[in-house]
Amino acid sequence: MIDVENNIAMLNERIFLATIRAGRSPAEITLVAVTKTVPAEKIAEASEAGLREFGENRVQEAEPKILWSRERGLGLNWHMVGHLQRNKVKKAIQLFDVIQSVDSLPLAHEMSQRCAQAAAVRLPILLEVNVSGEASKYGFAVHEADGRVLDGFLTAVQEIEALPHLELQGLMTVAPLGPPEEELRSCFRRLRLLLNILREQLPNRHWQHLSMGMTDDFEVAIEEGATILRIGRAIFGERGK
Ligand SMILES: *Cc1c(COP(=O)(O)O)cnc(C)c1O
Repeated sequence: MIDVENNIAMLNERIFLATIRAGRSPAEITLVAVTKTVPAEKIAEASEAGLREFGENRVQEAEPKILWSRERGLGLNWHMVGHLQRNKVKKAIQLFDVIQSVDSLPLAHEMSQRCAQAAAVRLPILLEVNVSGEASKYGFAVHEADGRVLDGFLTAVQEIEALPHLELQGLMTVAPLGPPEEELRSCFRRLRLLLNILREQLPNRHWQHLSMGMTDDFEVAIEEGATILRIGRAIFGERGK
């Protein structure tokens, strides 16, 4: 039996200790509970335990859960954290409060247009960055050694920044699975340095968020400056069981 309430209490304790170790304030950290494969009753338990931010990685799986949570008046905020196909954008902007996984310029344009058609206010977004350079990962490419790639990213950011219906709030990354701690740390650090570059280049925008850190790596992410953690298994147990 998975005890969601107890898992959240233990997780909050670990988050608290990691922020204190890092000389940060726990108030700087937003916990997003990632509910892919998790049934609605477990989401209700997490909501009763006080969580308000939830994440899903696929529009199709998210839709019934989000509609269910709205019907029940739970007042949850939903974050899209997985790759978004352009033909799912229309649906995604109706469902999600934040899109963390904007990973290309055409996707951003499509989103802004769809928001305009829906007469929506500015939709909060994060840009997903592939800091590890793994070919299997989604996200903007930003290899340090190659200045031109970084230039390309900065140009894309300027264009997205100017889109009228998107509210660019920061960066998101998915770290590699199970690398040595130093490699993990350098991935998170690269995302933070990138955010600092954006702060210098585009000082008018409020660059507040670094979404990084999952069940296996969130303590290192906190030490490296994460403001949003996306956590599934530490709350809901192993998936597929
Ligand atoms: C599944 C998922 C998470 C949560 O992963 P856990 O290891 O279960 O904490 C976070 N971010 C993304 C993008 C995911 O797909």
